Amino acid sequence: MAAGETFKRAMKKHGRAAWEYAVRPRARDELFPWDVVDHGIDKRYLFQELEKGLAERSTAPCDTDICRRCGVCGGITP
Ligand code: SF4
Repeated sequence: MAAGETFKRAMKKHGRAAWEYAVRPRARDELFPWDVVDHGIDKRYLFQELEKGLAERSTAPCDTDICRRCGVCGGITP
């Protein structure tokens, strides 16, 4: 996107639609925008959470003392 160009104009210029980035179905093995962020959460776990969210299912609260579900808390020493 060039300086001063709006998101809407850039999408139109490149023949894209906003929904393609926001709500389109995603493949488990595709590159996600957040893959460039080192957040420590396992990609498979995030995808599973995406599927649960789309199915309107919730995830039980986690306990940082014992949980290793997403990969963030494992190995962290207080
Ligand atoms: S590993 Fe930590 S952040 Fe991840 S779900 Fe478990 S308690 Fe929550």
